[in-house]
Amino acid sequence: MNELNYSKTIKNIHHTDVLVVGGGPAGFAAAVASARNGAKTLLLERAGMLGGMATAGLVGPFMTCYDNDGEEQIVKGIFDELCRRTEARGGAIHPSKVEGMTSYSSYYLESHRNVTPYQSEVLAVVMDEMLLESGAQVLFNVQVTDCVVKDGKVEYVIAAMKEGLAAFRPKIVIDCTGDADVAFFSGVPTWLGDKETQVMQPVSLFFEVGNIDREKFLAELEANKDRLDNHIANCFADKVEEAKRNGDWTIDRNELGNYEQNIKGRWKINTTRIPHIDATKTTDITKALIEGRRQVQELMAFMKKYLPGCQDVQLLQVATALGVRETRHIVGKYELTAEDILSRKHFDDAICSFGYAIDVHNSTGGGVTFTCVNKYYNIPYRCMVPENCDNMLVAGRCICGTSEAAASFRVMPACMATGQAAGTAAALALTDDVRPEDVDIKKLRSTLIEQGAVIKD
Ligand SMILES: Cc1cc2nc3c(=O)[nH]c(=O)nc-3n(C[C@H](O)[C@H](O)[C@H](O)COP(=O)(O)OP(=O)(O)OC[C@H]3O[C@@H](n4cnc5c(N)ncnc54)[C@H](O)[C@@H]3O)c2cc1C
Repeated sequence: MNELNYSKTIKNIHHTDVLVVGGGPAGFAAAVASARNGAKTLLLERAGMLGGMATAGLVGPFMTCYDNDGEEQIVKGIFDELCRRTEARGGAIHPSKVEGMTSYSSYYLESHRNVTPYQSEVLAVVMDEMLLESGAQVLFNVQVTDCVVKDGKVEYVIAAMKEGLAAFRPKIVIDCTGDADVAFFSGVPTWLGDKETQVMQPVSLFFEVGNIDREKFLAELEANKDRLDNHIANCFADKVEEAKRNGDWTIDRNELGNYEQNIKGRWKINTTRIPHIDATKTTDITKALIEGRRQVQELMAFMKKYLPGCQDVQLLQVATALGVRETRHIVGKYELTAEDILSRKHFDDAICSFGYAIDVHNSTGGGVTFTCVNKYYNIPYRCMVPENCDNMLVAGRCICGTSEAAASFRVMPACMATGQAAGTAAALALTDDVRPEDVDIKKLRSTLIEQGAVIKD
């Protein structure tokens, strides 16, 4: 038998105004914004901490929150508050103080000015504090597994808790799972990766290292930073080549991504790469985690053997969450395209602006295709409003946009900006007793701006 019909009465029922599923950058900002704007808000997160890729995934730094020329900070609001509070704790450097072509940005030229180096452990604590101060509630280790839909609305969100199955009854649900799990379980149409080919960007597993002779390592990076390849300074290109020839580098990538953190001498390494993984499938996730950890060991050996100042390099930690760049995109009321981004298309319902490049990690042959934007672009509200569901919004990397467009807006400052917009919109929809789709856009935009967000026109 390949089917099981299983029925169960769930007695663990929770009611809330706004239910945010997923506590990554988007979900964190959505929950804070929703609660600050007066809605009873509950966030469900399957991991044991807030932050998603920024903490459990060890991803960092926050890519630029400035326009592509590095002239103006165009993502502020909850994102900026988080950066400032984490900096005050000694856990970050505010992006206004970070220059381009430095160890903090792995010597990338474009779109890597004004990044935010941070320590994931401090970030997680500041996120806890900001969330609880906002009045939102959070439950950790809760995995959403299904939804009950009635009359075009999500009536219940079903989740696995330590106690067993539970059901959450929201007035509005905001899907911030990155994978659009809630949308998918509710029957909202979605697609995987590139619409035509279903090819998704490769996954990676981040890790952190220390005990490097910083002076020697930096001297080597500085000496080689002019080796630009499509905006990327491939400082160790010859060492990678040599290691490949010697059979010491089997990874489908041509450069080492080494990002120094706010703590001098502690680096995040973004170099492992596992292509052809569908991270909506548990078997694929498992395979990628195992291969990712193997690649971490290979890279540790590479650093020790080939890189100046790294003879005594130590592995500090490996991410517990797989680094997933792309899975499902929702079908929403507007599909953002690369053309919209590059032509800086005007949208009357723009809810945030962003300036990071279209950064496609190629699924074969290593390397990236990196296309800079024309100063900045805007994201319309309709990208967060799904088809076929009257009480749902979606924020973060899985909003409605092509695979290419997502290669820009998947980056964390943009995810926080869409999160803040979704949380604010959900609270306004409840106050005005309208569907999220019918929220007064002028009011939404003016509320966002009053609360520190930037929307360029
Ligand atoms: C390898 C890699 C390198 C990157 N480099 C950078 C970088 O340097 N700078 C930058 O700014 N961005 C970078 N990004 C992009 C960025 O980290 C992500 O795209 C971004 O974090 C997406 O935010 P999100 O909130 O949409 O999703 P996520 O950060 O993935 O958060 C989703 C959250 O939802 C939870 N969740 C998922 N499903 C469920 C469920 N069913 N039930 C309950 N909870 C659930 C997850 O546990 C997670 O906490 C990188 C991404 C990757 C993968």
